Amino acid sequence: MAKKKILIIGGGMAGMVATILLAKEGLKVTLFERNDKIGKKILATGNGRCNLTNANIKPSNYHSSTKNIFQDIFCQFDLEKTLNFLNDLGLETVKLESGKIYPQSMQAMSVVKALLFYANELGVEIIYNSRVKEIFHKDKFCIKADKKSFYGEYLVITTGGKSYASSGSSGDGYILAKSLGHSITQQMPSIVQLVTDNPYNKSLKGLRVDVEAKLINQKSGNLIRKEYGEILFTDYGISGPVTLQLSTMVAPLLKNGTILDVSVNFFPNFSFDNLDEVLIKRLTKFPLRTIEESLNGFINQRLIIPLLKYADVEHLKKAGNITKQERARLISAFKNYTFSVKDTYTWDQAQVTKGGVSCNEIYENTLESKLIKNLYFAGEILDIDGDCGGYNLQWAISSGAVVAYSILNS
Ligand SMILES: Cc1cc2nc3c(=O)[nH]c(=O)nc-3n(C[C@H](O)[C@H](O)[C@H](O)COP(=O)(O)OP(=O)(O)OC[C@H]3O[C@@H](n4cnc5c(N)ncnc54)[C@H](O)[C@@H]3O)c2cc1C
Repeated sequence: MAKKKILIIGGGMAGMVATILLAKEGLKVTLFERNDKIGKKILATGNGRCNLTNANIKPSNYHSSTKNIFQDIFCQFDLEKTLNFLNDLGLETVKLESGKIYPQSMQAMSVVKALLFYANELGVEIIYNSRVKEIFHKDKFCIKADKKSFYGEYLVITTGGKSYASSGSSGDGYILAKSLGHSITQQMPSIVQLVTDNPYNKSLKGLRVDVEAKLINQKSGNLIRKEYGEILFTDYGISGPVTLQLSTMVAPLLKNGTILDVSVNFFPNFSFDNLDEVLIKRLTKFPLRTIEESLNGFINQRLIIPLLKYADVEHLKKAGNITKQERARLISAFKNYTFSVKDTYTWDQAQVTKGGVSCNEIYENTLESKLIKNLYFAGEILDIDGDCGGYNLQWAISSGAVVAYSILNS
């Protein structure tokens, strides 16, 4: 085994984890990275803080259009092993109340440096600025880069998906995998802002509010996903943590023609009747104020006119003259402000790719190709995507580690 050489394409989280665990056992690894640095996407994660993983991980946090193999992989390299591995690299971690786990430094840069320091200490050969465009395969795998040919008995493809292409992941891996005979499922953006038909997008632009937001099938009225947290209104639609979480379900449903609504509840802790009681008190306290004025101090100023218009309630009407029906419509607007989802926002903004190398053609325990012996895949290139909250880096880490152990045990 000591003489075997491993070629790895892509120095993101998955590629770096596989590289380090293989090199640590004395194997000769050559890593090809198209950028002049490793881990460019890691730097952008968690708003520069890198949400590494999550204390609450369930198989339902992961999605696949072919086969959800997350659990097969995670049970081999779970949270405890992940935290030990990170610790081994010199990274202390902290768990926030939400369950999200970050480096103690709260800096993504320290994660990239920890990976790089360790790989360098192990003497890993990293060929930077080497965009792999072709793979030759006979008895061995061969990659031509840096005016040289590199040969290896094993090949690991960890080129990521095609979201956030400025980080280096622009979908090359799919072309490479296809050239080796693999099927690639349709790719769609996930963990992404949503384009909506809310007529007040422009006037609400920049507003952040804590809400309950639901993704609903407009035709059947069925609830698809419900989230609590901050929503950010933008000139094209919605963003913020709640939106990113809802977005994980959106692209495939829009593709199959489902019409989707988002319903926003600005008062999730109030029942309809509670809210009516509070409203009656306010309106009767200042009967000569306009309805618009009477809502001052009750809800964010910028929401008052859009919500009154949505409820078809005249904002200049005196508070004392509001009818029961108008109050009911206003409460409906407070609790059920609904607009349609037109699309997901751009690939450049998407954090994750849905779809990719079909999991049907991969052994779920080893991540080895069922088509070509000694060919492996890990990370976002595979048709597995996670929710927002550290789940995608966990997938990159667990899958990268399982590939390394599969090669070591082969
Ligand atoms: C803005 C943003 C924030 C995010 N925040 C989080 C977060 O906080 N927590 C979380 O869990 N997930 C987060 N994610 C998702 C997460 O970063 C990715 O799912 C994960 O990093 C994927 O790792 P990977 O190693 O599979 O791929 P990548 O990180 O994409 O790495 C692939 C590497 O391959 C290289 N490459 C590509 N093609 C070639 C080629 N032809 N030749 C050579 N090299 C090539 C690329 O340059 C890149 O370095 C975020 C994503 C984005 C965009």
